[in-house]
Amino acid sequence: MLELTDIQKEIVSTVRDFVQSEVIPVADEMEHNDEYPEKIVEQMKEMGLFGITVPEEFGGIGESLTTYALTVVELARGWMSLSGVLNTHFMGCYLINRFGTDEQKQHYLPKMATGEWRAALAMSEPEAGSDVQAITTKAIADGDDYVVNGQKMWLTNGLRSSIVMTLVKTDPSADPPHKGMSMLIVEKEGGNPTPAEGLDVGKNIPKLGYKGVETTEMVFNDYRIARSQLLGTEEGKGFQQVLDGIELGRVNVAARAVGVATRAFEEAIRYAQERKAFGKAISGHQAIQIHLAEMGTTLEAAKLMLYQAAEKKSAGERSDLEAGMAKLFASEACNEIVLKSLRVHGGYGYSKEFTVERLYRDAPFLLIGEGTSEIQKTVIARRLLEKYKI
Ligand SMILES: Cc1cc2nc3c(=O)[nH]c(=O)nc-3n(C[C@H](O)[C@H](O)[C@H](O)COP(=O)(O)OP(=O)(O)OC[C@H]3O[C@@H](n4cnc5c(N)ncnc54)[C@H](O)[C@@H]3O)c2cc1C
Repeated sequence: MLELTDIQKEIVSTVRDFVQSEVIPVADEMEHNDEYPEKIVEQMKEMGLFGITVPEEFGGIGESLTTYALTVVELARGWMSLSGVLNTHFMGCYLINRFGTDEQKQHYLPKMATGEWRAALAMSEPEAGSDVQAITTKAIADGDDYVVNGQKMWLTNGLRSSIVMTLVKTDPSADPPHKGMSMLIVEKEGGNPTPAEGLDVGKNIPKLGYKGVETTEMVFNDYRIARSQLLGTEEGKGFQQVLDGIELGRVNVAARAVGVATRAFEEAIRYAQERKAFGKAISGHQAIQIHLAEMGTTLEAAKLMLYQAAEKKSAGERSDLEAGMAKLFASEACNEIVLKSLRVHGGYGYSKEFTVERLYRDAPFLLIGEGTSEIQKTVIARRLLEKYKI
């Protein structure tokens, strides 16, 4: 099991108390109304959560990926959408801190650490999700600017963000395509759907779950951006940069899955002791006990895989295998657990009066975001074949 440092214990317990008192009482209703958690986000800013991994020299808390993952577990236990508000921002902070120039770090990180500027990530497009190299958004150099054309899709935090880490092709004819891919730091006015000439945020995409936080399109139409907004100094590095960021995102998704599954398990084990059928609590029926045993065991396994992946990446070790395995296992486990929790709740599990209904709609996103389960399996298999090559 993970040995927590004193600061990790303090952060986890502060976030847990916050979730218990400020999030759980309102999450179901806000989610049903698809309402953005404005007040909760302000409180998250005050708690320093937007700068949790930003180095102290830029005004952040300077904590590790493990601390971040533990925080995400607690937030997702309350409401998964809160971890969505943080995640693309966290990847933006990571990308700028790891690959940005000194000027970019000085300019962006202090305001990102406070949450004043929040970040989105624009990688996916209407015709390209898993196949990242198939994106068609182009940024063609013209004097001191790039001229950007194309359409991005599925931007979590697309409207309210002030910074959009945008993957483009600066050399659309490069072969292989990834050599022509670069990342741009697009600045915009958060909350404005038409923030600049040639830049449109597009519509908020209605979703099955994961409500409250917006998911938008973003359209570039001869949008001009200074060449100094290239992340780092060199074109052609965008693919590696985004893959590095996504590895962190996979740990984040595993953490969300553990958070959502923890809540589903807690709801089920409490309900099973309250609800009576055939003269006794349903927890006395062996079929329900089997569900509880399976849920509890799978949840523990998911936690251990999450901790292992987070610790390895925090230590700076190669962790694509562990992150992929943790993401795959925890997201599939979470989907099984929410369904079992729904079964334990019987008809009430299907009612909007009970939290498990929301968890059941939130969980499937975890099978898709940051690489689908199918893609995780290809990544894992590739790494295993490399590791065990004969
Ligand atoms: C709510 C939500 C929020 C999102 N937020 C963001 C965001 O903030 N930023 C961002 O850039 N993107 C975001 N995404 C996009 C997300 O990353 C993609 O949806 C995901 O990568 C899958 O891409 P796709 O939807 O194009 O599916 P496709 O790539 O079209 O895949 C369709 C199916 O084919 C399978 N498949 C594809 N290729 C293979 C293969 N080689 N082998 C086996 N199976 C394969 C997939 O697993 C899947 O089952 C978000 C998506 C959602 C739903």
